[in-house]
Amino acid sequence: VQNLKLDIHRVNWFSTYHVHHRVTEHFRKGRAFLLGDASHIHSPAGGQGMNTGIGDAINLAWKMAIVLQGRAADNLLESYEAERIGFARRLVATTDRAFNFITAEGPLAEILRTRVAPMLIPTLTSFGAVREYLFRTVSQITLNYRGGPLSAGEAGKIHGGDRLPWAPIEGHDNFDSLASMDWQVHVYGSAGEELIAACAADGVPLRVFDWRPQHEAAGLARDALYLLRPDSYVALADRSGSAAAIRRYAEGLKLKIAAGRGLGFDGRAR
Ligand SMILES: Cc1cc2nc3c(=O)[nH]c(=O)nc-3n(C[C@H](O)[C@H](O)[C@H](O)COP(=O)(O)OP(=O)(O)OC[C@H]3O[C@@H](n4cnc5c(N)ncnc54)[C@H](O)[C@@H]3O)c2cc1C
Repeated sequence: VQNLKLDIHRVNWFSTYHVHHRVTEHFRKGRAFLLGDASHIHSPAGGQGMNTGIGDAINLAWKMAIVLQGRAADNLLESYEAERIGFARRLVATTDRAFNFITAEGPLAEILRTRVAPMLIPTLTSFGAVREYLFRTVSQITLNYRGGPLSAGEAGKIHGGDRLPWAPIEGHDNFDSLASMDWQVHVYGSAGEELIAACAADGVPLRVFDWRPQHEAAGLARDALYLLRPDSYVALADRSGSAAAIRRYAEGLKLKIAAGRGLGFDGRAR
C-alpha cells in the first residue's frame, strides 16, 4: 500500500466475489439471445464489462427493431453473434492474462506489482501516444466489424464495418446527425445528383459535409459515400458514391433501408 501511495484510514464496506472467465458457445438460440455478462464474463481488470454489454445491446437492438418492422428477414439477427462473439473471446483472454498478473503469487510477482508497476505506469502514461492508445482501447472505439456479414467496401482508410471516424470542425462534428438511430448516408465533399435524388425519393437521410482537411485526416475519402447503420458503424463504403452501390448492398442482404414510404434500396422494382 505504501508503494502505491495509498493511505487507508477506514474501510466502510467491502465485499468479495468470485471471478469468472468464460464465453458462452452461442449468443442466440432460436428466440433467446444472450448479451452482457450472461454471454461473456471476465475479471474487471481493464474496466470493460459494462461497455461490452452496452455494445452488445446496441448491436442487437437495431437489428431486432428492423426485423420487427419487416425491413429485414430474421436471419439478419444471425449477424449479432457473428459481429460480437470474437471481441468477447479476445476480451476474456486478455483480461484473464491481466488478472493472472494482478493476482500472481511469489516474490517476483510481488516486486513487479508493488514496485515496478507503480513506477512504470505513471512514466508510460506521461506519453501522449500511450494515453491515446489506452483511451482507444479502453473506450473500444477501435472495435470494428470488418469482414463481417453486414460489412462491404472501402473508401479512403475506412472499410465497411468500421466505426464512423469522428471529425470535429469549428465546434461542429459529423456525429451531430447520428442521434437519429436509423440508416443514413454521409458524403464528404460533393454528392452526385443521382444519389441526392435516390435518397430523397426513398426517404433515406443524406448528409453532405464540405470537404475539409480534418476529413482526410480522419481517413475519409472525398466524394465517396458511407452508408451508416443505425448503430453508426459503416455498413458500406463506396468510392463511386453512386446509389447503385447502396441498392446492390440492400439487395444482397434483402434489407429495406428506408424506414417509410420508399421502395428503393430494397431490391424491388421502383
Ligand atoms: C468489481 C467490479 C468492477 C467492475 N468495474 C467495471 C468497470 O470499471 N467498467 C466496466 O465497464 N465494467 C465493470 N465491471 C463489469 C460490469 O459491472 C458488468 O459487466 C455489468 O454490470 C454487466 O451488466 P449486465 O446487465 O450484463 O449484467 P448484471 O449487471 O449482472 O445484471 C443482471 C441483472 O439480472 C438480475 N437477475 C439475475 N437472475 C435473474 C432472474 N432469474 N430474474 C430476474 N432478474 C435476474 C440480477 O440481479 C442483475 O440485476 C465491473 C464488475 C465488477 C464485479
